[in-house]
Amino acid sequence: MKKIALLGSTGSIGTQALEVIEKIKDEIEIVSLAAGQNIELLKKQIKLVSPIKVSVTKETDAIELKKEFPHIDFYYGTNGLETLATDKEIDLVLVAVSGKIGLKPTIAAIKSGKDIALANKETLVMAGDIIMRLAKEHNVKILPVDSEHSAIFQCLNANSAQTPKKLILTASGGPFLNKTIDEMHNTTAKEALKHPRWNMGKKITIDSATLMNKGLEVIEAHHLFNMDYDNIEVVIHPQSIIHSAIEHTDGSVIAQLGIPSMHIPIQYALTYPNRIEGIETNSFNFVQAAKLTFEEPDFIKFKALELAYNAGKKGCTYPTVLNAANEEAVMAFLEDKIKLSHITEIVETLLSEHIPIQNASLDEILALDETTRNQAKEMIEKITAKA
Ligand code: NDP
Ligand code: MG
Repeated sequence: MKKIALLGSTGSIGTQALEVIEKIKDEIEIVSLAAGQNIELLKKQIKLVSPIKVSVTKETDAIELKKEFPHIDFYYGTNGLETLATDKEIDLVLVAVSGKIGLKPTIAAIKSGKDIALANKETLVMAGDIIMRLAKEHNVKILPVDSEHSAIFQCLNANSAQTPKKLILTASGGPFLNKTIDEMHNTTAKEALKHPRWNMGKKITIDSATLMNKGLEVIEAHHLFNMDYDNIEVVIHPQSIIHSAIEHTDGSVIAQLGIPSMHIPIQYALTYPNRIEGIETNSFNFVQAAKLTFEEPDFIKFKALELAYNAGKKGCTYPTVLNAANEEAVMAFLEDKIKLSHITEIVETLLSEHIPIQNASLDEILALDETTRNQAKEMIEKITAKA
């Protein structure tokens, strides 16, 4: 029985993880849940899975919840997330919070020797070198939840003795694949939130619309699989059946495929190295899938992808800036303060002004994250004032 802490239980990944765990109760026990501010959903989850410890964002929510569930220990804020992530009762932490909030609990969990099922890609973009070094030092597994990285992980497991020549990450292309640049740039948050394939949290849905999500995933793949950026290729595959692939030096390509469902990569990260029957019981139907198509990404329309590749290749603290600027700009877009095109403009400007730090410490990364967010907010204010 694996004992887990689920951070981000009320989100898209968190709720799907609970659906998965409901079907594999003999294998996985939930010890603790952490959510942000969706207290009504959290209450339902508490009643369903009876966790021992629960963390929320606000202290006032923790106090109110304690009155209703006196037998549960409640925590709050970043410290609460870290307490859950380092609990001696647990074996594995599923990090399914969105954005920079994932970094500190992930580091704390690694330092206390917990394996990580990582959905939160921003953590690796912000501080991938530190995370991977710590994971090695503490002999901790980082098990990818992101579907593309789970696919590559599974392909690599098929031939672990050999380093592949390249990794091929597939991308659905998002809602603007067949729209013009003008249509894309003039879109509203409501339109951009309609993803054709996946039902996800708001931040990643906007990242998928700009293809920044794929850019973040390129950086995530670089760290997880220790692969040069020149050997990570992105290919647009609108049907999202092939979840990603690796190519070996002998020309053989190994791909992982199946229905587009996050249940599968979530479950594999939780049950690794075992495979068990879980929530997805229907066999994959090749005839129904019928047609799989592939195309090159348009780096001009989707500038974010190019910015992410370049930030990754330059290395140092460029990805930290990319992540912070993007996260702030996406939030402003979601609040209708700026246009979609402003997101990449803000990211590009802050990357171009950045003076990189070599071998940055965690404190330097956190300080840079903060400064970049403030610079992004200033740019957003100027844009709003002009409009
Ligand atoms: P959501 O926005 O749906 O969920 C985010 C979760 O984090 C919610 O439970 C939210 O709580 C919680 N949260 C937010 N702020 C805090 C905080 N300060 N303290 C504690 N909890 C907090 O995001 P997704 O599930 O879509 O994505 C999560 C991560 O997984 C992201 O990094 C994303 O890139 C990655 N990912 C997601 C995929 C998907 O299909 N959704 C696919 C691959 C990767 P609340 O709602 O209660 O405020
Ligand atoms: Mg993905």
